[in-house]
Amino acid sequence: MVTTDSYHDWNLPERVARLKDLAYNLWWSWHPEARALFKEIDRTLWADTHHNPVRMLRACPKVVLDARMADKGFLSRYDAVIAAFDAYMAGNDTWFSKAHPELKGVTVGYFSAEFGVHNSLRIYSGGLGILAGDHCKAASDLGVPLIGVGFMYPQGYVQQKISSDGWQQNVYEQADWDASPIRPVLGPSGGRMLLDIPLGRGMVKVAVWKVQVGRVPLYLMDTNVDGNSPHDREISGRLYGGDRTMRLRQEIILGIGGVRMLRALGVHPAIFHANEGHSSFLFLELAREKVSAGKPLDEALREVADGAVFTTHTPVEAGHDVFAEEMISEYFSSYWPQLGVEREQFLDFARVPGHSGWNMTALALKMAGRRNAVSRRHGQVSREMWKSLWPSRPVDEVPISHVTNGVHLATWVQQEIGAVYDRYLGEDWRERQDDPALWSKVAAIPDEVLWLQHNRNKSQLLQMMRARARAKWMTEKSDPSQALAGGALLDHSALTIGFARRFAGYKRATLILHDIERLKKMLFDPWRPVQLVFAGKAHPADDGGKMLIQQIYRLAKDPAFGGRIAFVEDYDMHVARYLVQGVDMWLNNPLAPLEACGTSGQKAGANGVPNFSVLDGWWEEGYNGANGWPIGQPGGRGAGPEADQADAEDIYATLERKVIPLYYDRDDLLIPRGWVKLMKESIRSVAPKYGASRMVKDYVNGLYAPTAAAAR
Ligand SMILES: *Cc1c(COP(=O)(O)O)cnc(C)c1O
Repeated sequence: MVTTDSYHDWNLPERVARLKDLAYNLWWSWHPEARALFKEIDRTLWADTHHNPVRMLRACPKVVLDARMADKGFLSRYDAVIAAFDAYMAGNDTWFSKAHPELKGVTVGYFSAEFGVHNSLRIYSGGLGILAGDHCKAASDLGVPLIGVGFMYPQGYVQQKISSDGWQQNVYEQADWDASPIRPVLGPSGGRMLLDIPLGRGMVKVAVWKVQVGRVPLYLMDTNVDGNSPHDREISGRLYGGDRTMRLRQEIILGIGGVRMLRALGVHPAIFHANEGHSSFLFLELAREKVSAGKPLDEALREVADGAVFTTHTPVEAGHDVFAEEMISEYFSSYWPQLGVEREQFLDFARVPGHSGWNMTALALKMAGRRNAVSRRHGQVSREMWKSLWPSRPVDEVPISHVTNGVHLATWVQQEIGAVYDRYLGEDWRERQDDPALWSKVAAIPDEVLWLQHNRNKSQLLQMMRARARAKWMTEKSDPSQALAGGALLDHSALTIGFARRFAGYKRATLILHDIERLKKMLFDPWRPVQLVFAGKAHPADDGGKMLIQQIYRLAKDPAFGGRIAFVEDYDMHVARYLVQGVDMWLNNPLAPLEACGTSGQKAGANGVPNFSVLDGWWEEGYNGANGWPIGQPGGRGAGPEADQADAEDIYATLERKVIPLYYDRDDLLIPRGWVKLMKESIRSVAPKYGASRMVKDYVNGLYAPTAAAAR
């Protein structure tokens, strides 16, 4: 039996004791009434604890709670939130139960190296993790019985500080378990549950934490426990932090340990879904279980394939883990006999024809019976990329389909914009979010209302940037020009272009700086100025990415740019929300076809922030001629300086001729009617198609349901 018993004794007044349940279920993070309730307890503490109710309630003085007890309004709002929470958790009447009664009792084991659910849980780096978090939230909303499997990294992913000369400093902070929305999983005897997972020739102890995301539990493994060597304790230390050996050790624990953890928890999913190749070892472990139960290997592999879904997330080579075969032999020489195979046959499981090395993506593609890419374009690119695994098939018959990513709207749509949707689309817009007819009502939102709210969001972004610049200036005694680089001189009335993403080379963060003089003319046009806001981390070991950041940061500090270029440090979910909600336009100019999907632009679009993007990833299918602008040509122009030059030329020409004139074309009330029309078209076209609800329904209908049928 497994319990996650009461962990902390908080001494909450009995009347509001269930605040604790609320704090430990991240459901609160996407329900405005629950957020408002926590905020109401103590606004300052809420801000100081970075919107982390576990930390806040533990720090909350008794007098503050006592004061709330005397407030009838607070108590009735508390009761309403708890009632809504209980009704949600009971989940009697979900989409899933109605659409798929035949799947009753089926569970999905969803494996991912990262989960981006909320900033109080820093176990994500970027797009992949946030996609996983959004997948879990939407699965919870729809009643899909998903169980997440991952790691609880004590040091999470790198945090970013920028030095005065623009160089990214890699900062790691130890998580404070007591202030995190996680609870230890206990074993039958009431002590901490500890698993022994074989790793190479030894054993590693793994402890388990549970995070509740609405109805979806995440079980997260942690090797930092007594009884492990210091080396083993570090396995779960950092996300994407170590060398190749560390990466392999993590992935063995994630895949093989993950399956064993589920078994120890008594969980037997009918469907296993590997979100990216990091967890592919899970399929070997499933096969090993069947072989050890007496099945012949080929039958075991067939059964594993029938119950397995694999999603590939990038066409970029470096995004696919390939391990040296010697390294694999070192760790698996006692494993392959358990499958009844020899070394060569084992290594063949993960080989790409014509290449040596153990390829984690190839392993999953071969082992899983259903495979998908994350946008239409990425589907084509992936079929081409992996066709050698199916040599007898023409490329369009390579069995990799696609489900285009989407974003969890209740998380990413700004709260007051959400209230506007409540009013003009109906209060059930979140539940009906994938119905295009609902969104046609966006036309009924008065221009004034949408424009005013957008400008409030923009003010909040600029305020957040100034507050951070001020804090850096005061606490780090930073050089004054760093306050300017942080956005202290940004102008509320200027057209503000946002660019935020990982600083990986193919994202071409500095493309808009290609012709500095031409850009400067736009920035300093006295009547129609433009400003740029950048954010993003480089991988801690990627000096090339750090150099791109430095290049931008130097311009941001340079008096010649007058504070019209700014860089926000430490891009994370919190910063991302301000940016996608508060800039005027969202820029994305990767080298096509390397953007598998891209989701930040979907977040922007659903908030009425139009996209200006290369026709790659989701925008290749999302651009409709009236909801933003394209850059370059469909399919891209190939790589190289000429292509960059041509794409940059395209960016400038579109800005000069289309974007800037439209943004500054105001009527008597100073409202840019044409621009607001564009904002509405962005919402109308993006929200229903690129929400996580549509995405998870596609997974269930197109992948999970057939997988469950095959597994039966
Ligand atoms: C949404 C998001 C991403 C992914 O966005 P892309 O468009 O794929 O770059 C990355 N990081 C953060 C913090 C996000 O919120």
